[in-house]
Amino acid sequence: MTIFIYFLSTLFTFCLMEGVAWFAHKYVMHGFLWGLHEDHHRVHNNLFEKNDLFALIFAVPSALLFIFGSLEGIDFRFFMGLGILIYGICYFLVHDVLIHRRFKWFDKTTNRYFRAIRKAHKVHHKHQQKEDGECFGMLFVPLKYFKETTKKEAVWK
Ligand SMILES: [Zn+2]
Ligand SMILES: [Zn+2]
Ligand SMILES: [Zn+2]
Repeated sequence: MTIFIYFLSTLFTFCLMEGVAWFAHKYVMHGFLWGLHEDHHRVHNNLFEKNDLFALIFAVPSALLFIFGSLEGIDFRFFMGLGILIYGICYFLVHDVLIHRRFKWFDKTTNRYFRAIRKAHKVHHKHQQKEDGECFGMLFVPLKYFKETTKKEAVWK
């Protein structure tokens, strides 16, 4: 039973993080912290972006949950911290590697879900300004991008 609760804590937090990431992207990064996110909407050749600081910001609640969830033996908070960590890793692999190709790792994939994700995020990047953005989510892809992704072509095309 305990293991089931731990598993649910991780799964629930992982799913919750998609909502948190969507909210933060739409209302914080395209809001009062636009100054940190803006360089992600500009073309550049730098290795890092100010936008990368958000990864550190999201690491804080994860680290706190790991710490407080393991003070007197491990409890569900530890597994919530794990959920945030796993979401962060997935976000990095999908957003930074698969979509923005900061590392050339899975260029050959023809997976429909990955191509739909990439298409949706490219729509987000069509907008260069703080206002009138769309597609603020990441792992959850609106159905219409799935439907548009019919032909089998590699993901970077
Ligand atoms: Zn954005
Ligand atoms: Zn970028
Ligand atoms: Zn992006």
